[in-house]
Amino acid sequence: MNLVLTLGIVLSVLITFAPVAKVQAQKSIEDLEEAQNRKNVDICTQNLLTIGKALEAYQKAHGDLPDWLSELYPKYLPDANLLLCPADEMGGTPIFTSNADPKMPVSYGYQFHPRYRDLKSEQRQVYGDAMPLVRCRHHKNQPFDCLNLSFAFKVYPSSHVWEDTPEEMYGTPEEAIEALEVGLQKQPDSRHALDLYVPLARLYIEVGLEKDVNTLINRFKSIIKPDDLQAHSVLSAMLELANRDGEVLELFENLEQHHPNSRYVLNKLARIHERLGNSELAAEYRKKADPMSALVGKVVPNFSATDLDGKPISLQDYRGKVVLLDFWAVWCGPCVGEMPNVKKVYETHKDKGFDIIGISLDTDEERLRNYLKENDIPWQQIYSGKGWDSPLAKQYHIRGIPAPWLIARDGTLISREARGVKLERLVVEALRGKVEDK
Ligand SMILES: [Zn+2]
Repeated sequence: MNLVLTLGIVLSVLITFAPVAKVQAQKSIEDLEEAQNRKNVDICTQNLLTIGKALEAYQKAHGDLPDWLSELYPKYLPDANLLLCPADEMGGTPIFTSNADPKMPVSYGYQFHPRYRDLKSEQRQVYGDAMPLVRCRHHKNQPFDCLNLSFAFKVYPSSHVWEDTPEEMYGTPEEAIEALEVGLQKQPDSRHALDLYVPLARLYIEVGLEKDVNTLINRFKSIIKPDDLQAHSVLSAMLELANRDGEVLELFENLEQHHPNSRYVLNKLARIHERLGNSELAAEYRKKADPMSALVGKVVPNFSATDLDGKPISLQDYRGKVVLLDFWAVWCGPCVGEMPNVKKVYETHKDKGFDIIGISLDTDEERLRNYLKENDIPWQQIYSGKGWDSPLAKQYHIRGIPAPWLIARDGTLISREARGVKLERLVVEALRGKVEDK
């Protein structure tokens, strides 16, 4: 009796405490990981500082920085392991392949390598030596995206796009304002000067210098060309920061005169009208920006063409079937990535009334034919060799691919985004007669 009772107590104690122990174990794993992450940041910071010293010595000896970090080894950097960040799980691969050192494994992105040297030299004229020279992007779960070694050989953390947050580069908002003002004064015509305006306006507002935002905006307005799209996007971002929405509308209405077919301008006008509560005008501009958006639920206009095998083909011939009109190209990564899914849906439903017409925006016929053969793609393909200027791409206003249009048995458009898991769901529903793109 006693033994049973004691066992019962022991068991119930175990049962009660087991989840707690599990939570504690979980927590201590998290603590360990966090400690390891912190340690990695420390080691990486030390690596960067040592690389900085080596770069400084190299520069003194050669009068210039090296083409690649590997040139520091072994004369200026005796240990090649210093080029590896402990948080780099691949053991020496920068995040961007263009930064990959040609001679040895290096975790760091070297910003001054031959391909970027001219660009970075120009930027340096504007931003000075505080801008990043070597960057590490391998640290996860940190309050920053990158650890940077600057041209002045100092280490600081920042976001990926350091141009957007100059306060991280210069230390404080006030110091950043000062540096950006100097940059603008020194290089007003540099193409990189354009990048200074929006962060500068944001920093002015952050430190309570609203007056200076207005001065900056007015100065910018006086130099901007009436048809310069890029400069107008900068100006509108500044006006929005300063809550001058009415002027943004005026600005883009003027811009529309110069670029009546620009999707950027038309979409922007749609968004502004939406914000101002003019929903009818917003809808009008959305339709202008994307004329085919109104086609969903309506009959897709017919086309007649010749397929890759020289056979005539028209959309009308497919009436009664559910059809995927698949605008794609071999050079389009997401299109090719989606192909196994499209093939699977085709194989599963082709006998129930589903078919596909591929409309290739390729310009290399041999590459297209090889791909179709190697991947055993059985459905008909239309190819003109004219890429974006293909007659069908123009007829249906295709401005981006993949553009998988799913058409119902009665010829009406169900969706222009029938891909991924959605493709099969929509095909199944369309074969049953339901035609709603949720
Ligand atoms: Zn690192």
